[in-house]
Amino acid sequence: MENLLQKLREKGYKMTPQRRAVVTALLECGEFPSAQTILEHVKHTLPDVSLDTIYRNLALLVELGLVQEIHLRGRESNVFELTVTHHHHLVCLSCGKTLCLDHCPIDHRDVAKAAKQGFEIVSHSLEFYGYCRTCRIAG
Ligand SMILES: [Zn+2]
Ligand SMILES: [Zn+2]
Ligand SMILES: [Zn+2]
Repeated sequence: MENLLQKLREKGYKMTPQRRAVVTALLECGEFPSAQTILEHVKHTLPDVSLDTIYRNLALLVELGLVQEIHLRGRESNVFELTVTHHHHLVCLSCGKTLCLDHCPIDHRDVAKAAKQGFEIVSHSLEFYGYCRTCRIAG
């Protein structure tokens, strides 16, 4: 939480009650909560908060690299994870199970070369889709 506060401050953002509640929800909801799950959790402390507010705060935290958004293809909503160290995910297309990879397979020099037309990259997202062990056995 301290580290996060510091990063927000560095970028000129304040830790508002909503932001704090969203971060707390991410810490307490267990693995990979959706925005809806985060909303339910935040409502314990901020009963008037809307899903829209949750999305806006999540979007900012993602933009700042403090939270990772994981795109679950073919599912209603994406899920979120606090970024401790930057990494990527394996997503099961059948059950939605999400697993963390322990590193980033992207070569940043290649990306920089590809994007040299005056484009400043601030973040990237990358998911690997397939079928988890359980679904492979069942299928
Ligand atoms: Zn699965
Ligand atoms: Zn992860
Ligand atoms: Zn990466």
